[in-house]
Amino acid sequence: MLTLDDIRDLFARHGANQYSGEPVTQLEHALQTAHLAEQSDADDELVTACLLHDLGHLLNDQGDTPTLRGVDDTHQFFALPFLRGAFPDRVLDAIKLHVDAKRYLCQSHPEYVERLSDDSRRSLALQGGAFDASQAAAFIALTSARDALRLRLWDDLAKQDGLRTPTLAHFLERAQRCVIAR
Ligand code: FE
Repeated sequence: MLTLDDIRDLFARHGANQYSGEPVTQLEHALQTAHLAEQSDADDELVTACLLHDLGHLLNDQGDTPTLRGVDDTHQFFALPFLRGAFPDRVLDAIKLHVDAKRYLCQSHPEYVERLSDDSRRSLALQGGAFDASQAAAFIALTSARDALRLRLWDDLAKQDGLRTPTLAHFLERAQRCVIAR
């Protein structure tokens, strides 16, 4: 199970990695996603999920642009065992479902696909493509679907060259507020 110090360390060691095919690093992408959530008055759990949603990429580094090699790193699941016990289910569920949220949006809002970056479109195909109507209905019935959809839309916008954000320390403070007390 990761502590906040471990998470700080992971960003220190891998945060400067370029986010595959995007004009931001992994750290910038995480900070921008959390920042957009904060600007929309998301609570500590959802801001923390936004900060950590791609931690799987840092824990399981597949090198540059794995989608070009046909690799789906299943990063939405990879981080979960490391975070379980440290953060409440609400944080974990939003992370777990952020890829399904993309598959849902592609089904429910076909024009959404046009807004996706090239890498997100490549990974979509590897992740199973748009949901069909029954998969979409099952997804939207989940309690965590709303959080996952909000996270997803901030995620898609968090690829901006030079966007200024608060620091990692700021968002780790918010994460601290939802760490499960032992
Ligand atoms: Fe992301």
